[in-house]
Amino acid sequence: MEIRRGIAVSPGVAIGPALVLDTEGILIPIRSVSTQEVDGEVRRLRAALAEASHLAQEKQRTLSAKLGKEIADIFAAHAGLYEDPILVRDAEALIRANNYSAEYAVSRAVRAIMKRLDAAGSSPLATRLQADFVDLEKQLLILLQGASGQPLSAITEPIIVLAHDLTPSETAILDPKTVHALATESGGATSHTAIMAGALEIPAVVGVGRFLSDISGGDTVIVDGYQGLLILDPDAETLQRYMELRFRDQTTSGLHQVFQKNIPAETKDGVRLHLFGNIEFPGEARHCLDRGADGVGLYRTEFLYVNKSVDPTEEEHFQAYQTVLKELGPDRPVVIRTLDLGGDKFVGMTGLTHHEKNPFLGLRSVRLCLKNQPMFKTQLRAILRASVYGDLRIMFPMVSTAMELRQCKSILREVQEDLEEARIPFKSDIPIGTMIEVPSAAIMADVLARQVDFFSIGTNDLVQYTLAADRNNETVADLYNAADPSILRLLQTVIRAANTAEIDVTICGEMSGEPMYMQLLLGLGVRQFSATPRKIPELKRIVRQLCLADAERVAHEALQLETAREVTSYLREQLRRILPDAPD
Ligand code: PEP
Ligand code: MG
Repeated sequence: MEIRRGIAVSPGVAIGPALVLDTEGILIPIRSVSTQEVDGEVRRLRAALAEASHLAQEKQRTLSAKLGKEIADIFAAHAGLYEDPILVRDAEALIRANNYSAEYAVSRAVRAIMKRLDAAGSSPLATRLQADFVDLEKQLLILLQGASGQPLSAITEPIIVLAHDLTPSETAILDPKTVHALATESGGATSHTAIMAGALEIPAVVGVGRFLSDISGGDTVIVDGYQGLLILDPDAETLQRYMELRFRDQTTSGLHQVFQKNIPAETKDGVRLHLFGNIEFPGEARHCLDRGADGVGLYRTEFLYVNKSVDPTEEEHFQAYQTVLKELGPDRPVVIRTLDLGGDKFVGMTGLTHHEKNPFLGLRSVRLCLKNQPMFKTQLRAILRASVYGDLRIMFPMVSTAMELRQCKSILREVQEDLEEARIPFKSDIPIGTMIEVPSAAIMADVLARQVDFFSIGTNDLVQYTLAADRNNETVADLYNAADPSILRLLQTVIRAANTAEIDVTICGEMSGEPMYMQLLLGLGVRQFSATPRKIPELKRIVRQLCLADAERVAHEALQLETAREVTSYLREQLRRILPDAPD
C-alpha cells in the first residue's frame, strides 16, 4: 500500500478501480475478455507488437536519410524493445492467466518492467529505458485502440479517474454516476478543474505529484477528498476503514442536509447571514435549493462554452438563465456573472483563437468582452430578457480599473436602449455589481463602490494575482494561500469600502467554503457567502455556532499576525474552540 498526499479539492471518499489517463490523455483500459476471446487477444497483441516494430524500423530508415544514423538509431532501439522477450512473454502470460484484454496486459507488463527498473536504482540508462517504455506503451495502445482510445464520456463502469492533468472541459464531461472520484498529478486548489469537480460533486484530489507510473488501470485505489489522499493498492484494514467512512459519509450528509435545509443561517446572537450557491450549469440551481441556499451568488456563465465549437446563441444563453431564475423563484437572488473566458477557461473557442504566453495576465474576462462586443452584447441581451423571470443581478468579472467598469456599464446601457426600441421587456432596476479579484480593484474599492450596487470578492484570483502564484500550479501551492496577511489586509480594505458605501459585499471564491475562515470573514464585516452548494449545510451548521463579538475579536487578532502559517494555526484553533469536531 502507498499513501500519496495532494490537495483536497472536492470532499467525499471513493474506492474503486483506477482508470489511468497518461500525460497525453490516452486511456489505459481496464477491460477483461471472455475465455473464448483469449486466443484472439493474444493474436491482437502479437499483431500490434509486429506493427509497432515495423513502424519504428520505417521511422529509422526515413530519419537516417534525413538526420543521420545516430538519431535514427534511437528508433532501431525502439524496434528492438517491441521484440523484447520479457515484455512479449509477460503480456501474453497475463492475457492467458487472467483473461486480460491485450491493452490491459500491455499496460500491466510495461508497468511491471518500469517498477523493476525503478527498484534497480536511478541511473541515466534506467531513466532513458523508462522513457522508452512509456513511449512504447503509448504506441501499442494507439495501435490497439485507435488514436484517441475510448472517449472519457463513453465510460460505463464505475471507476476512479487518475490523470496527469484534466482540463475544465475534460472534467465537465465526466459523469458522476460512473466517475466516483478523480486524482491528478498536477493542479492547484482553486483551478477550474477543481471547481468543476466540486460542481459535479465528484470527490477529488489534485497536485499529488508523480504517481501514474506506479499504477495500472484496474488497480484498486482510494481517493480521500477530505484529507487530500490518494491510496494505491490499499491493504485490507485500510479498505475496511474507508468502506465504513464512505457509508457514514453517505448517510450523515443526507441527514445533515435535511436538518439544515430549512433553518436560517443565523449566528447565536441573531445576525442573519446569507449563504448562496456558486453554479456552473443550470441543473445546479436545484442543488442550491436542496442544500438550503438563499440564492445563487455566482453563476459562472462561461461554462455555456464547454465543449462547444461555436459561440452559444442568444437563445441558448436566454434558456439557461431563464431555467435558473424560474427554479430559484422570485425571492432568491441569482447573480449572473458575464463571461469570464480566457485564462484556463475554454481557450480555443471562437474569438479566442489567439495564443497568449501568459493567458492569466492576458485577454481574459471583461477585457475579452470589451474587445469582442458582439459576443458581449449577445450575452447581455439574453440576461436582460431573462430578468423578468426572477431576482436577477448582473456582475462583471475581473475588472481591473474604474474605466473598464464604466465601459461595461455603458455597453449594458446601449443594449438596454436596443431592447427598449424593440419593445422587448426587461427589468429596469437590475442591481449591477463587480467582482473584486484583481489587486488594483481592491485598492480602488472606494472608487468602484460608487459605481455599483454590490461587490463580490473573488478570492481565487485575488490570491493568485496578489501573491503572483498561479492557482493551477501545485509547485507554488504553499505560496498560494488565502490566509496570507496581504490577503487579509486587502479583504479589510474592500469590505470597509463596501460598508462605507452601504453596498452588499459577498465572498465568492473558494475561501468562503472553508469553515476556518468563517469567523474571520464575519468579523471583518461580511454577511454574504457564496460557495459550492454541497458545502452549504456544513457552513450553516458553523454559522449557527458563531457570535459576532467573538468573530470581531478573531478578525482583529488575525490582522496582527505576520505569516500565513500563523494565521492558519490561529484560525484553526479558534474554530476548534467553537466546534471541537472541526476537521483540520
Ligand atoms: C474567483 O476568482 O474567486 C472566482 C470566484 O472566479 P473564478 O474562480 O471563476 O475565476
Ligand atoms: Mg476569478
